[in-house]
Amino acid sequence: MKYDIIVVGAGPAGSLAAKYAARNGASVLLIEEHAAIGHPVGCTGLISVKALGECEIGLGKWINNEIRGAFIYSPDGHEIQIGGREVKAYVIERKMFDRELAKRAIKAGADLLLQTKAIGLKKDGNVLEVISQGERSEIRAKIIIGADGVKSNIAKWSDLGKVKKILLGIQILGLYDVHDHSFVEIFTGSVAPGFFAWSVPIEEDVARIGLCTSKPLQYLTSMLNSHPIISERYRGSCLDLMMGSIPLGPLKRTVSNGIMIVGDAAGQVKPSSGGGIYTGTLCAKIAGEVAAAAVKEGDTSAKRLAEYEKRWRSAIGRELKIGMRINEVVSRLSDSDINELIGMLNDPEILSIISQYGDMDYPSAVVKKLILAKPRLLRSLGVLAKAIK
Ligand SMILES: Cc1cc2nc3c(=O)[nH]c(=O)nc-3n(C[C@H](O)[C@H](O)[C@H](O)COP(=O)(O)OP(=O)(O)OC[C@H]3O[C@@H](n4cnc5c(N)ncnc54)[C@H](O)[C@@H]3O)c2cc1C
Repeated sequence: MKYDIIVVGAGPAGSLAAKYAARNGASVLLIEEHAAIGHPVGCTGLISVKALGECEIGLGKWINNEIRGAFIYSPDGHEIQIGGREVKAYVIERKMFDRELAKRAIKAGADLLLQTKAIGLKKDGNVLEVISQGERSEIRAKIIIGADGVKSNIAKWSDLGKVKKILLGIQILGLYDVHDHSFVEIFTGSVAPGFFAWSVPIEEDVARIGLCTSKPLQYLTSMLNSHPIISERYRGSCLDLMMGSIPLGPLKRTVSNGIMIVGDAAGQVKPSSGGGIYTGTLCAKIAGEVAAAAVKEGDTSAKRLAEYEKRWRSAIGRELKIGMRINEVVSRLSDSDINELIGMLNDPEILSIISQYGDMDYPSAVVKKLILAKPRLLRSLGVLAKAIK
């Protein structure tokens, strides 16, 4: 078998890369190790309106809920409300969402092989070794795009290094007395040291409840049983449990001769929230486009493919860098620091700035706005101010 481009991994990044490569004239094979697209799911499925637009599939049966804002809780239980009027985000059902993205890649001309796992890479000549439906074989390609998620073998086999940091996440789907159906809840502080915990409503009485931290299972059990707000709302019935990893801090290089790495595999994830669908698909589209052009020109060298690296870093590289610094600073704050910070944010003018300028895909913008509009905040936000310089 021979293709211009093989995309390894049919998650959102893989399907978008395949779609853009096929639509730009390349012969494309998309392979997925599992027997079904979008399964198993390791995601809360919260994406901004902008992210849904980036994925180019619009509203459909993959939308579980519309989100207008967030309640953020300090460790001492104070609540602030952000947003509230327009729809800012959607909760998606990943299985259906991922299938729709794969369908669009196929419609653009890509071939899809399920139950096909990449097991090795022969560097010279770009031969991918696979086990496809139980049979071992080799597939040749001019370019291989690694969209194979957080544990990317394609990046490893191509000596492209590792992401900076891996967060461990855990989440249940459970019966929950949802406070407000169109608001997510964020719980800060020692409930999830180093990151945060969340509840994302799916229905009036069902939510995805989870957290990211080290030893996630231990913290989840303790949160469900004894967090003063969550334990009150959680009805004690878990319908689904999943664990997953989130890569933070992108690879130093995302291309080599005949190789490109996209999405979680490249660490293209927002360090402030752990969300990777917007960033991954944005970069994957660039990768697909550049790959098809490189094939057409007959030059698939690292030098030619560096156009992808340059373009994705100019689109989101700075935001990811700032996000990484903010993540490092915030993860070191104590409960009392966070209580103080959230107490200061609880001011109508500040909340209105956050609601107006808050962008879940580009969070550094609102931090800058706040510092400009409220210099008094500088003392409290001093650490963050340094992070965004
Ligand atoms: C707990 C948790 C909550 C999250 N919540 C959100 C959220 O609310 N919003 C958001 O934007 N992001 C969220 N994320 C992150 C999001 O899930 C990822 O960023 C996103 O799935 C990355 O897409 P991807 O296509 O790069 O990789 P993936 O979706 O991981 O897809 C990779 C695909 O490659 C396949 N694969 C791997 N190895 C091989 C191989 N050798 N051969 C063939 N196929 C292979 C896998 O089976 C998989 O289908 C969350 C993550 C976690 C862990």
